[in-house]
Amino acid sequence: MIELKQLTKRYGKAGTLTTALSDLDLSIEKGEIFGVIGHSGAGKSTLIRCINLLECPTSGEVWVNGKNLTSLGKKQLQTERRKIGMIFQHFNLLSSATVYDNIAFPLRLNKTSKDEIERKVKELLDLVGLEAHRDKYPSQLSGGQKQRVGIARALASDPEVLLCDEATSALDPQTTDSILRLLLDINKRFHLTIVLITHEMHVIQSICDKVAVIHQGGIVEQGPVTEVFLKP
Ligand code: ADP
Ligand code: ADP
Repeated sequence: MIELKQLTKRYGKAGTLTTALSDLDLSIEKGEIFGVIGHSGAGKSTLIRCINLLECPTSGEVWVNGKNLTSLGKKQLQTERRKIGMIFQHFNLLSSATVYDNIAFPLRLNKTSKDEIERKVKELLDLVGLEAHRDKYPSQLSGGQKQRVGIARALASDPEVLLCDEATSALDPQTTDSILRLLLDINKRFHLTIVLITHEMHVIQSICDKVAVIHQGGIVEQGPVTEVFLKP
């Protein structure tokens, strides 16, 4: 489903180069919940942002769903990117838009019809349990509710992959667990491939099937969570 081949990412110019990822290979199968764990600065954020080319790799290939994203033109890349949803640590909601409009945003970009948007947003509000909050603004929501909006928005274009960039790091432990349960539910229901990055072992142990440990821009260990880390 996702294959990273010899992925290298350097930031900066000659003289001040930082190598964030170095010849990294990674393979993620369809329907898996795949976690990447590592300390701050290890390269997690760069890695996940390279999967949808939010960050452009210096060299190497990014394959998603049988397509080499690094070889595509702008238009084709845009089409492939719609199949990759993403959620963020700080939610990245539009503060001047309601819950409804935040979720409808990617559908409007795709020029979806008004009736279809209405149907789809209702379905998503129901999925994430926010029907009663559809007309509220992000500032009126709790952190967990904001992330539910983020999840609904990410799912609006029926992606095949969901990327989670430290998606629970700004939440308290109880809210974290409810968001993780929702992600697990979505994974089972839609057979959606989920890639998440985190610095918290708890997140890996609660929902991931497989894990990779990243250190100084390289994968130092990977496999089923139960093999890499003994469950408590
Ligand atoms: P993590 O998500 O594991 O904390 P990052 O991918 O953010 O790691 O960072 C990996 C390395 O790349 C770090 O050394 C970081 O300082 C560097 N880095 C990340 N983003 C940039 C950037 N935009 N410009 C320069 N260096 C960066
Ligand atoms: P940021 O760095 O905060 O993501 P951007 O300029 O990329 O800033 O986006 C501005 C706002 O629009 C953010 O809240 C972001 O979440 C939202 N946004 C951008 N692109 C999309 C998209 N394709 N689908 C949904 N929301 C988007």
